[in-house]
Amino acid sequence: MTDDFRRRCAAFFAAHGQHPEAVPSRSRDPAAYVAAARDHQRALHGAGLAGITWPAAYGGLGLGPEFRRVFDEEAAGSETFADLFTIGFGMCGPVLLALGTEEQRRRHLPPMLRADEVWCQLFSEPGAGSDLASLSTAATPDGDGWVVTGQKVWTTYAHHSDRGLLLARTDPGVPKHRGLTMFVADMAAPGITVRPLRQATGDAEFNEVFLDDVRLGPDDVVGEVGGGWRAATLMLANERVALSDNPIGSPVTLDAVVALARRHGRADDPVVRRRLGEAYVAQQEVDLFARRIAAEVRVGNDPGSLASVGKLAAARVARQVAALALEIAGPEAVAWDPDDPDGGLWAYGELYAPSLSIAGGTEQIQRTILGERVLGLPREPQADRDVPFRDLRRSG
Ligand SMILES: Cc1cc2nc3c(=O)[nH]c(=O)nc-3n(C[C@H](O)[C@H](O)[C@H](O)COP(=O)(O)OP(=O)(O)OC[C@H]3O[C@@H](n4cnc5c(N)ncnc54)[C@H](O)[C@@H]3O)c2cc1C
Repeated sequence: MTDDFRRRCAAFFAAHGQHPEAVPSRSRDPAAYVAAARDHQRALHGAGLAGITWPAAYGGLGLGPEFRRVFDEEAAGSETFADLFTIGFGMCGPVLLALGTEEQRRRHLPPMLRADEVWCQLFSEPGAGSDLASLSTAATPDGDGWVVTGQKVWTTYAHHSDRGLLLARTDPGVPKHRGLTMFVADMAAPGITVRPLRQATGDAEFNEVFLDDVRLGPDDVVGEVGGGWRAATLMLANERVALSDNPIGSPVTLDAVVALARRHGRADDPVVRRRLGEAYVAQQEVDLFARRIAAEVRVGNDPGSLASVGKLAAARVARQVAALALEIAGPEAVAWDPDDPDGGLWAYGELYAPSLSIAGGTEQIQRTILGERVLGLPREPQADRDVPFRDLRRSG
């Protein structure tokens, strides 16, 4: 049944597949990388291979999860530009499919699949990360719409995005989890200012986003007014699923570290071999676990706490591989020949790796989720759970 589809995928990658090292560097030339990513997605769309499991009514192919597996197998070894599109395809799209109105799905999903619109996630704030429900960006009713004022932070790719899913407080008079609403925000709307932040790696992939009297219409509400926490929880679960499968942007692959060990004459060193073997086994475990999570999601089951385990495991392997690379590379990791194509990669990987423990909810928060939901340990005390938001003591 999947044979014809496999042939189409193979033909696409034979014609358009690009080796990851042949595409513009995300780090050194972000504008060219984003342009190449959009071109690639448009080519996929043109070949009738975008949105494999999404309903045909919204531009997808309406096919089963087994077709997605076939696609992934044929895509192996080619650049997928996943990190630019993961927030749209892996997080915003599924939320719109589950909670959006018919009009929102028809309006937003086809341009997302064509890469005409890149999406971002406007959740975290300077005063609300792990405790997301305490966010203070306010959406105040105005006519039949809303006026939004506040600040978001760590908004990945906001500077390349056309739209975002925004979480804002619509009712400060009820406890914090109940007064939130999710909106679709047009990133070009008057009042939105996006300011890139420089990371430890030197890149500027995430941003501060300032919202000053930004007007949103009644059609921009996703789900119920006051139902933002449910929508956010769904989006965060999808984020953990995405991060279990693809630790976004982790640049140091195990294959690259094996090649590095060979180049440095360390491939026969028993200690290096053992550690490479351990990393390989851990990587295989992560891959198999990611497949199990993906299978649950694709048949409509909630992956629940599985996704927290997947996210923890994927981040751990990424850190393990980055650290091993640094050790094998030795002085080359801190001072490199400008002509070396791998120059700076090992240092970059080591500086990047810790972010994977934070993105999508920190490791401490994932362990709390597992402790409470899987091990049945007592819940964390939440003294503010039933207190109206406006009565909470907050800094700032
Ligand atoms: C690479 C990357 C990309 C990101 N992209 C986005 C994005 O696109 N959109 C977006 O909205 N956000 C994004 N984020 C933000 C991310 O979701 C938050 O950084 C994360 O949820 C943690 O929040 P915080 O940074 O405010 O840390 P805090 O919540 O202030 O936590 C600080 C420390 O305290 C610990 N801590 C806090 N509460 C508890 C607790 N109850 N129990 C135990 N320990 C606790 C944390 O584990 C952490 O170690 C991104 C982050 C990263 C690193």
